Amino acid sequence: MSLVPMKQILDEAERGGYGVGAFNANNMEQIQAIVRAAREVDSPVIIQASRGALRYTNLVYLKKLMEAAVEDNPSVKIALHLDHGNDLDVVRTAIDLGFTSVMLDGSLEEDGKTPRSFESNVDITRRAVEIAHPHGVTVEGELGTLGGIEEHVQASRVILTDPDEAVRFVELTGVDALAVAIGTSHGAYKFRETPKLALDIVERIHALVPDVRLVMHGSSSVPAELIDAVNRFGGAMPNARGVPVEAIQEGIRKGVRKVNVDTDTRLAATATIRRIFHESPSTFDPREYLGPAREAIFEIVRARMVAFGSAGRNGDYAPTTLEAMKAIYAGA
Ligand SMILES: [Zn+2]
Repeated sequence: MSLVPMKQILDEAERGGYGVGAFNANNMEQIQAIVRAAREVDSPVIIQASRGALRYTNLVYLKKLMEAAVEDNPSVKIALHLDHGNDLDVVRTAIDLGFTSVMLDGSLEEDGKTPRSFESNVDITRRAVEIAHPHGVTVEGELGTLGGIEEHVQASRVILTDPDEAVRFVELTGVDALAVAIGTSHGAYKFRETPKLALDIVERIHALVPDVRLVMHGSSSVPAELIDAVNRFGGAMPNARGVPVEAIQEGIRKGVRKVNVDTDTRLAATATIRRIFHESPSTFDPREYLGPAREAIFEIVRARMVAFGSAGRNGDYAPTTLEAMKAIYAGA
């Protein structure tokens, strides 16, 4: 059983100087693809579920699917993470379900749009830490806001993270990980041009708070060939640009340890399913398109694990437990 606290995975990534992909999942095929990639390239992995995923799956299904992934892959270090929790109830729910990490996104109000004040963000994030740490569960906070839309998260304006505020935020809340806003964006329609990221912000925050693990949200690359593949078979997606893999690698060199990827796996699955419906219009067995979609997701995840440098690192350390983390937090 290698369900581990996310803090361990990210602390080891800091030691090794690499990034770990956090891949969103809503169903069996996605979870199987993500864990298979981790097993094949020997990488630790973070599987994350958004509030939307919890709603879509009716909680218990997702919990059991994730348990199956862990049971079926005992050698892989897996952290289960709640992505963009917006209130303390969803944080408690995720902990009850057995997640080893939660995000409390206090950068926005509970409507998922309006930026919160710094004080209000500190207050709710600190309360999430008070709930999670006694269970040994890792907490990720967010300071600053991203553009774009992801599930129900759509900031009404983009605010880059201020490094000095980040220092105060970390001291006041006790978070383990911090999502920083450096110009990335959620969703498939990120940018018309390749974005210029404020990676110097990562470098400064990493130097100022070296014990907190930095997270890049909205870090799908949206490769042109994936958009083309969706559109070739009847799709109508506008041309968009994501965050090039090289820019993510630069971010990792400057201190990013968790890289959130969702859109790229969605695009790969959709492109595959569209192709199959186009080539074989008589297809009606869901296995005939969900199986190949799972394969396409696997290939994207595997490529990202290699690019982020986490491939080959799963065996570097022994897994710790939530119990051990409880003791560490209690002593801190
Ligand atoms: Zn996000």
